[in-house]
Amino acid sequence: MAVPKKKTSPSRAGMRRSHHALVAQAHAECANCGELKRPHHVCSHCGHYDGREVVAVGKALKGAVRA
Ligand SMILES: [Zn+2]
Repeated sequence: MAVPKKKTSPSRAGMRRSHHALVAQAHAECANCGELKRPHHVCSHCGHYDGREVVAVGKALKGAVRA
């Protein structure tokens, strides 16, 4: 098994973790019901996309954001 030769310094650990920050997820208001939804995704609340209902309301959406 490969084992590190030296202890990682706090500076090195900080440099590695400089890419670990969380970013806020993009969101937009649904034009039909006003709930927050992910841009370019079907609204998980009303099932509308681009001005028409594409998913029957009440059915579970795979990967949908809960509002
Ligand atoms: Zn909606």
